[in-house]
Amino acid sequence: MYSILTDLHTHTIYSGHAFSTIGENAAEAARNGLEAIAMTDHFSSFMTPRRADGSPDLGPMMNRTALPPVIGGVRVLHGVEIDIVDFAGHLAFCDCFTGESGISIGERLLRSRDVVIASIHMFPGFRDGTSAQNTEMYLAALENPYVDIIGHPCRPGLPFDHAAVARAAKEANKCLEINDHSFDTPEAHDNCRALAIRCAEEGTHIVVSSDAHSAWFVGKFERAAKMLEEIHFPQELIANASLAKFAALRNKQF
Ligand SMILES: [Zn+2]
Ligand SMILES: [Zn+2]
Repeated sequence: MYSILTDLHTHTIYSGHAFSTIGENAAEAARNGLEAIAMTDHFSSFMTPRRADGSPDLGPMMNRTALPPVIGGVRVLHGVEIDIVDFAGHLAFCDCFTGESGISIGERLLRSRDVVIASIHMFPGFRDGTSAQNTEMYLAALENPYVDIIGHPCRPGLPFDHAAVARAAKEANKCLEINDHSFDTPEAHDNCRALAIRCAEEGTHIVVSSDAHSAWFVGKFERAAKMLEEIHFPQELIANASLAKFAALRNKQF
């Protein structure tokens, strides 16, 4: 039985297709005995609202001071789940809308985040990539200094070289995610199992996340934990076992 005290991948109503507020998510986290959650709403060319000039509306994401750091006894981190937008591993809005500062709007957001998850949802042709292309894509995303976690890499239809990506994550002190939401499909379960075995062999840290899109799923990782127990995955490689552990791995202070 693992002790996992943080859930670093949750969504609020700001994601548009999620159903709960920060307060509701934090209350559920407290009920489940968590010490921290990260709000990781989407930052994506097709999910983030746009302003009149076509730029993404950072809106509430940049309004950090409006929220207390601890809500209902739970530390609430300001994160993001940012889209990987091509096989070169570029991230959403990180090459455009630079303005006078020369800093892209994507980088402005990333600089402000406690936790950054880089995930694939869709981009033109994303399902047509070879394993080699997908591997290069993840390796490039891992090289981005702002990225802490590769999100749900076990989703079906996106094969990649588990060993190469696990090694790169380990070298960079970054994490690959075992996402409980991915266990909705049997193929993803098998992919997650294979990746977790490889991570254990390579000594790569994982994070175990709910990817909750409503409060009812915050801190719920039973399916992922069951699989990890079956393969005797080492507790010490679960980076989100505690907030202090994740902070130490990523050299952050919360
Ligand atoms: Zn996602
Ligand atoms: Zn998500």
